[in-house]
Amino acid sequence: MNTNYLTLISGFSLPNLIHPGVGESPLANIISGGIITEAGFTMSAKVCDMVSCFGQSWPASWLHKYAALQHIDFPTLSDVPNLLGRVDVHYNVNGCSVSIVWDTIRPIMLNIPWFKVVWFPQCISRHAFLLWLLVGERLKTHDRLKPWELRSNPVLICALCKQCMDSHDHLFFECAYSSNVWDKVLDKVRIPIGSYKWKSILVYMSQFAGRNSARCIVAKLCFAATVYVIWQERNYRIFRRVHRTPDQVFEVIVSNIRLKLMTIKFKPSSYVERLKVDWQLV
Ligand SMILES: [Zn+2]
Repeated sequence: MNTNYLTLISGFSLPNLIHPGVGESPLANIISGGIITEAGFTMSAKVCDMVSCFGQSWPASWLHKYAALQHIDFPTLSDVPNLLGRVDVHYNVNGCSVSIVWDTIRPIMLNIPWFKVVWFPQCISRHAFLLWLLVGERLKTHDRLKPWELRSNPVLICALCKQCMDSHDHLFFECAYSSNVWDKVLDKVRIPIGSYKWKSILVYMSQFAGRNSARCIVAKLCFAATVYVIWQERNYRIFRRVHRTPDQVFEVIVSNIRLKLMTIKFKPSSYVERLKVDWQLV
C-alpha cells in the first residue's frame, strides 16, 4: 500500500469511524464517548491509535457491553480504504472521492484579508517575502531582540532618524525618515492613506487584496517596494555605513516598480494611459 495513503487513512478520527455493514453508523453512535475515553483515548484519537492499542480485535469489555460489535470486523489498516469512501467532511455517508477525503483531513485556515495584498501574481517575490515577514512581525527590529542580544547592542537607536529605538511600527511608518519616503510614494501613486499607523495602513491596503485592476496592482507593488527599500536602507546604514537620502530611496523604489510595470500587460484604459506617462513606460 502506498505509504502516504496509509498515513491518511490511519489518521481518521476514531469516534467517526464508519464501518461497512453496521448500518453506516459512526463508531461513536455505537460506543459511548465515555467508554472510548475510559479506554484511554481522547475523542480526537485516530483509528491507528486503536489498532496499535488493541491489536486485532475489539477489547472484551467493549464486546460484552455492546453486542453489535460482535458483528463488526475489527478494522485493520489494510481494510480502511473501504471506510474512507463512506465519510465526507461532515462524516456523512458518501461516495469515494479524493477531494472529500482531502477536505476531511486537511486543516481549514481562516480567510486572511491581507494575504493577497502580499502575494499576488504580479508581485516582486523578494518584496513580497519581506512584507510577509513584516505583517507577521518577524523582522529583527530592536524590540524583538533577545536579552543576550541586547548585551552586544548597547546603543539601540533607529538608524534612519536616530531619535528612538526601532520597531516594526516605528521603522516602517512612524519614523520621520520613512514617512518622508511614504509621502513621496503616495504622491506618486495618488493614494491617500491618511495614517502612518501600521494597523490602519494594512486595513486600508486590504481593499486592494484580490483585485487586479492596474491601480490596485500599482498600489500593492508600491506598498511592498517601499517597505523593502526602507528595510534595505536601515540595514545599509547599520552594516555598510551607507546613507541615502529619502529622495534617493524614493528613486530606487520608482526604479523597481517601473521595471516591473514594463513586464505587465494591462487592459487599455485612461488610467493605464496616465500610468504609462507617470512611470515613463512609453
Ligand atoms: Zn526612526
